[in-house]
Amino acid sequence: MGSASHRDAAPRNRGVAQAMCRRAEEGVTRLVNAPSDFPAEAVRGFVVANERYVQQVHGGVVRSTQSPEGQVAVVLGGGSGHYPAFAGWVGPGMAHAAVCGNVFASPSASQVESVVRAADVGGGVLLGFGNYAGDVLHFGQAAEHLRAEGLDVRVVTVTDDVASDSPANAHRRRGVAGDLLVMKIAGAAAEAGLDLDGVERVARRANDRTRTLGLAFGGCTLPGANHPLFEVPDGVTAIGLGIHGEPGVYEAPLGTADVVADTLLDGVLAEEPDRGAGGYDGRVAVLLNGLGSTKYEELFVVYARIAKRLAALGLIVVGPEVGEHVTSLDMEGLSLTITFLDAELEQYWTAPVDTPAFRRGVVNARPARTREIVADEVAVIVPGSKQSQELAGRLAAAIGAMARCAVDNEKRLGDLDAVAGDGDHGQGMMLGTAGALAAAQAARAAGAGARTLLVQVGAAWSESAGGTSGALWGSALVAMGNALSDSDDADADALVAAVARGADAILRLGGAEPGDKTMVDALVPFVDALAAGRERGASLGDAWVEAAAVAASAADATAQIVARRGRARTHGEHSLGHPDPGATSFALLMAAVAANLAHPTH
Ligand code: ADP
Ligand code: MG
Repeated sequence: MGSASHRDAAPRNRGVAQAMCRRAEEGVTRLVNAPSDFPAEAVRGFVVANERYVQQVHGGVVRSTQSPEGQVAVVLGGGSGHYPAFAGWVGPGMAHAAVCGNVFASPSASQVESVVRAADVGGGVLLGFGNYAGDVLHFGQAAEHLRAEGLDVRVVTVTDDVASDSPANAHRRRGVAGDLLVMKIAGAAAEAGLDLDGVERVARRANDRTRTLGLAFGGCTLPGANHPLFEVPDGVTAIGLGIHGEPGVYEAPLGTADVVADTLLDGVLAEEPDRGAGGYDGRVAVLLNGLGSTKYEELFVVYARIAKRLAALGLIVVGPEVGEHVTSLDMEGLSLTITFLDAELEQYWTAPVDTPAFRRGVVNARPARTREIVADEVAVIVPGSKQSQELAGRLAAAIGAMARCAVDNEKRLGDLDAVAGDGDHGQGMMLGTAGALAAAQAARAAGAGARTLLVQVGAAWSESAGGTSGALWGSALVAMGNALSDSDDADADALVAAVARGADAILRLGGAEPGDKTMVDALVPFVDALAAGRERGASLGDAWVEAAAVAASAADATAQIVARRGRARTHGEHSLGHPDPGATSFALLMAAVAANLAHPTH
């Protein structure tokens, strides 16, 4: 990814024209077949190249070696685009499995469940991931389902990014490169035979003691896109960036390597605990992490300064790591992570580990896994009544209209999301609606009624899109389906009631309120207008057209709000003047459905 040779040929200070040329060129992912196949093809290649460690299951990878019966299984995950995180850390001494989402998008709950079932060896499961709304939703849903099946599942979110919130709100911070240290320590605790309570306690402690600050000089580009998610002007560094192309929290002039080292170190050490308190006496684990296209030699130059200053401060570095561990596609930049150790954390940080991308000490070879991977059951569709099949046909046509609308607006929605989010909303909506349409067509072919069709559509949307909005849309459609029937027809009022049930699911699951600058700001006025139209006696089609217009102005009005929820929260002020991507896509899709109701395309 990126073009190192081209960058080398045009250093930053050679004038604007060359810099522009460099920017236009860099960031393109050249080795790509179809962009939508990229994440799956990357996982496939990773697995065949690492058969000694991993095998593929629905939703991700599990160890291809045996783990002792009764051991706690550590299951990591998140979007792809961060390699070695997370699949590169599956192996003895670290993770038992990794769930692999699309690029920068959370995996779906059903993917998480499938991977957890394949990874469980009888000791319960610890789910570990960076703190992002989409991951919290999907992993949280999966944990609930798995607990209902009787599996003991604990969730630990990594919150190491000091730039993303204040110390008082440390639990709301994002997870970035600290994933490596927290998950390495948790995996070693599982390997040492601690029970699930013990592994959870150690993982939480490691997270409480881990802090990261990152900075970038260049954005990153999604596979298949031809421009980066954000750009950093020449000579400037974006401090406090995220690992999904979220822009930095503030910008500063780019100084020498030593200045960069000092910025990172000062930022992280500002939160050093008192020495002598809580088992911490100045021993630290250190990770200097490259974000994707920073040279190793550059990292070493920075690390030389960091090591010198740590020594001068009387801090003892244990098992330092310098290299690419948690990347952000081809982002140019780096981050510094420090875990303030106690004796127990140090023991697990230094314990042997053998994974595709992270190795330390000597781990005895493990026998190959013998347990069969059970293929995911394919839901059997029971045909619906004639009337319900007809309604299913109309619903499938509406999904088709939404899918076309998402394709037409992919770039616009991606650009909007890049303002304060991670730029993947266009792609997420396109993948989600495409998956939903494929499921609708398959359900139609099997004779599904309206209820089954929408339940299938919702599950497919969430699975295909990932991300926060994918989870919310998916649950809304499942809830809407559950409000309908496979045998009875539904009149206009029943459909409006089903839409309201879908909206309730979004409100309940996402927890956002009107004014938070989310899709809820368009959704709530839409549902209210739809119900009001019907009460006035308008036909469903007319009421829908009016409601879609209300949603469109409500979505536009979100430009005046500062984001308080979702990924954009960290970059709230950036979003002022730009409408919320999720509210915008909601309004566009509802307008597409309105047009389809007026001129059905079966
Ligand atoms: P992600 O944030 O995971 O990258 P998307 O980019 O697909 O997901 O979607 C972003 C949109 O999701 C936001 O613009 C917002 O409308 C919506 N969103 C985020 N969090 C919430 C929430 N808690 N409730 C409702 N909508 C939300
Ligand atoms: Mg996004």
